[in-house]
Amino acid sequence: MKNVIQFQKGFSLPDFFEKYGTEDQCREALSDWRWPNGFVCPECGHTHHCLLKTNQLYQCNRCHHQTSLTSGTIFADTKLSLTTWFLALFLVTQTRNGISALELKRMLGVSYCTAWSVKHKLMQVMKERDDSQPLTGIIQMDDAYWGGERHGGKRGRGAPHKVPFVAAVSTNEEHHPIAMRFSKLKHFSKAEIARWADKHLKSSCTVVSDGLSCFDGVSEAGYKHVAIVTGGGPDSVKHEELTWVNTMIGNVKRSLNGTYHNVSEKHLPRYLAEFNYRFNRRFKLDNMLTRLAYVAVRTPPMPLRLLTMAEQSG
Ligand SMILES: [Zn+2]
Repeated sequence: MKNVIQFQKGFSLPDFFEKYGTEDQCREALSDWRWPNGFVCPECGHTHHCLLKTNQLYQCNRCHHQTSLTSGTIFADTKLSLTTWFLALFLVTQTRNGISALELKRMLGVSYCTAWSVKHKLMQVMKERDDSQPLTGIIQMDDAYWGGERHGGKRGRGAPHKVPFVAAVSTNEEHHPIAMRFSKLKHFSKAEIARWADKHLKSSCTVVSDGLSCFDGVSEAGYKHVAIVTGGGPDSVKHEELTWVNTMIGNVKRSLNGTYHNVSEKHLPRYLAEFNYRFNRRFKLDNMLTRLAYVAVRTPPMPLRLLTMAEQSG
């Protein structure tokens, strides 16, 4: 039987170039996504305006504020053409395992720094989008760590120089995975788990985890929580109730190691967010570009200075 995810209709390169091959086509598409009901002045909300042909600025007829198509969005202050941005959107959403900044540099014909910035801005859009949609249903939750493994030494919980992240996969009644949310935490404590739960869970959900005491933070925050006591060490056979979250932890680590030469610990939240975003939309490959672009024009600017700072906990 064909795998429905692998064999779904995507967005082909010829289709892409036919739709978004020119600067004018990209401008028109971006304008439609940003202002689906026509231009709205970001200063005063007025809709009557004129377009200044020389510099492509929109000028409000009431307050005379001038705004560009990209100002106030993740594309703000860009020196890249829109066709380059669109090609980046295409590559980031349509490639099988994502694309690294290094590959993006080669494919777009830009500097590494520019490619890195484009890639991280798009990952930031994915992160903000998914973080705004709390998980629901039956949620398998586990603790996980990034880094350190390849340098030998202690493995698993408590090993030094590892970045802790919480792994959560929501499933339906038939135990099929619906969505995932992997987020970096400061550390595993009841308070951190409770904070995370308040941000990422819907009140109707039920969380299933192993017996690690920090997960009591879920019930302390007021959510339904079932702890499964495995009785063994961290390597004991995982229960069926936690199969999906453990599978996804393995997939994430394999994918990050396979696609990226080096995932910096301080930017791990964005890499996790990219994986989350793509998994959560795995059945909708053909419109992933338009959905991401639609959110991108609603995501505030993220200057390089902010982009390079360490991410806070998710
Ligand atoms: Zn105005």
